[in-house]
Amino acid sequence: MIDLTPTELERYRRQMMLPNFDEQAQRRLKSFTALVTGVGGLGGTAAMYLAVAGIGRLILVRGGELRLDDMNRQVLMTHDTVGQPRVFKAKETLEKINPDVEIQAVYDYITPDNVDELVRSADITLDCAHNFTERNLLNEACVKYRKPMIEAAMDGMEAYLTTIIPGQTGCLSCLFPEKPEWDRRAFAVLGAVSGTLACLTALEAVKLITGFERPLVSQLLTMNLGRLEFAKHRVYRDPHCPVCGNNAAWRHFNPSIESQIQSKPQHSFQLI
Ligand SMILES: [Zn+2]
Repeated sequence: MIDLTPTELERYRRQMMLPNFDEQAQRRLKSFTALVTGVGGLGGTAAMYLAVAGIGRLILVRGGELRLDDMNRQVLMTHDTVGQPRVFKAKETLEKINPDVEIQAVYDYITPDNVDELVRSADITLDCAHNFTERNLLNEACVKYRKPMIEAAMDGMEAYLTTIIPGQTGCLSCLFPEKPEWDRRAFAVLGAVSGTLACLTALEAVKLITGFERPLVSQLLTMNLGRLEFAKHRVYRDPHCPVCGNNAAWRHFNPSIESQIQSKPQHSFQLI
């Protein structure tokens, strides 16, 4: 297992005081690479909490330039970088916050051409993408390569969160067989709302990686932050799901996937 430097031991000392969060959990966190998409109010803030917690490596994926109307929630950005690519600024800020985290910035959106390579490069994905086209691509790649995905989305004062573990839980397509109405650009958003969901998203990832608490496995957390109402719902796996079901089309067209998965060591997840 990967070692921690004296600086890292001191940096993470307070979280290693938590029950079940020992030095081994911290080392496991350091051994992980997380892919974070849509590095904005949700993804950027979630990436920040993974960086301060001591994730080993982050792959940040986001196309487009910072706009002034992003600045009410995108806490990794600064006013002087409006008009410049967000993802490079996010990398720069995170490296200043925690220079021990390795960060790769990908100036692009999730596309059919890049999704497989990006998902395979990571051990876990945080789906904070902006639309369900990107979310569905990520879901299918995570199912194919058996990578867990923290699924977080919001619209106005409402948000949802769940953790998808291929082979153990339903996938995004089981959850939403049809595109939700949330799939639209420029929805209303308050920074404290996207930030709340981002903290919970990062917390899910830390729980799943370290096993120090139980994540939302086969459970969907829905939140109305206007009324501060939180509810958990049971999520079922659809045996006929076109993405994670046994007869999913990709299984027939990608016979080499099994050997690709087996050729690379995978992390296993212990749920308490
Ligand atoms: Zn499914």
